[in-house]
Amino acid sequence: MARALARIDLGAVERNCARLAAELAGRSELCAVVKADGYGHGAEACAEAALAGGATKLAVATGAEAALIGRCFPQVPLLTMGALTPEDLEDALAAGSEVSVWRDGFRDLLSARGRAQGRPVRVHVKYDTGMGRLGNPDPDQVLALARACAEDPRLDLAGVWTHFATSDELDSDFFEVQLERFTTLAAAVKSEFPDVLAHAANSAAVFRDRRSHFDMARCGIAVYGLDPFQGDPAERGLEPALSLRSYVADVKRFGAGDSAGYGRTWRAPAETWVGVLPLGYGDGVRRGLSNHAEVLIRGRRHPLVGTVSMDNVTVDLGPETEIEPGDEAVLIGEQGGQSIRAEELARRLGTINYEVTCGISARVPREKA
Ligand SMILES: *Cc1c(COP(=O)(O)O)cnc(C)c1O
Repeated sequence: MARALARIDLGAVERNCARLAAELAGRSELCAVVKADGYGHGAEACAEAALAGGATKLAVATGAEAALIGRCFPQVPLLTMGALTPEDLEDALAAGSEVSVWRDGFRDLLSARGRAQGRPVRVHVKYDTGMGRLGNPDPDQVLALARACAEDPRLDLAGVWTHFATSDELDSDFFEVQLERFTTLAAAVKSEFPDVLAHAANSAAVFRDRRSHFDMARCGIAVYGLDPFQGDPAERGLEPALSLRSYVADVKRFGAGDSAGYGRTWRAPAETWVGVLPLGYGDGVRRGLSNHAEVLIRGRRHPLVGTVSMDNVTVDLGPETEIEPGDEAVLIGEQGGQSIRAEELARRLGTINYEVTCGISARVPREKA
């Protein structure tokens, strides 16, 4: 029995990576993205499983994440993808990470750091092909920046890269626009610097278009067995690695009209049994699921009723039940052949599976299985 527990199936992470590596065109390598504590799954353990499954590189977003992952896997190439303050940069470089650059001022800072550490900083020049976020949107400037990095003895030009805005929207043409822009730029850079790694694809792009694979794919969501298109992960051969479990702490008889939780948002329409699970939005079970989710107990779905509290939720068990205090409850995952996917909760919440698993709070222990 556990109050709230995220169980992580590391075998599933490993198999998902083997599946992704097999999907990649030619020599394209799999870079497992383990930012945000491995999308809430535990970065360190998932990185290890990903490497066992065929990932050859790792990526994170922040300097602090680089510090953790670089320490654990000093032999594995690591890319810190995000914008870095000078302090963040120190953390990333101390961890041996490669970093992203798209502005001259930051290139100067990297060059100075390369001089100070007596070893070139490995950089990936970022081209903003249309995401409108990090990166330089002018291809001529990107090429000039790549040349400047390559010519600077304190820098190593390791990569040129971009990020797609709509790879998960199969009816959007903008993916093609970005792909074409990047293909042109990558060819120009590689004609001068053939060893530079070109990379663009995230998980959705890997499944969508082999032309996006280039030399490396940066996969996050699919590594964890979640569907990049918000559908059924099994249809793409992916296995969800995370389940979120609790237990029935109490079972009580409700008469017609009795209410559960803050604000009395649910009242029993007739006599019924109500189960209380001791987890809530303090654990990342979002309040938006109030009266709008289901929970598996004894292999059957039961409606979550009433308002989600910080530390408790209530479940309608029906007028007759064999459910007893101590029974396991599953909010995400499988039980008795039934399953509730992160994609289902995302749909109910009007969000994406990414946010569901990232939102499982630090209060919930991660158990590796
Ligand atoms: C998070 C991230 C990825 C991974 O994307 P998924 O959709 O989870 O595969 C790749 N590239 C960048 C720049 C990212 O920020």
